[in-house]
Amino acid sequence: MFQFRSCPRCRGDVFLEDQGGLQDLVCLQCGYRRPLPQGALPPQGIRVEVVITGEGR
Ligand SMILES: [Zn+2]
Repeated sequence: MFQFRSCPRCRGDVFLEDQGGLQDLVCLQCGYRRPLPQGALPPQGIRVEVVITGEGR
């Protein structure tokens, strides 16, 4: 997962590095590292149910 131009230091490209559950945002350009706070991203596997109320009659 990449986040382009989201480094606060150099505006470089930041990618998500997984370290056995802990995730860091690491900048490709300057090496800036920021721990990702838990719960910042929506959990994977979440199911979104879309209810379509069709009144097309
Ligand atoms: Zn950077």
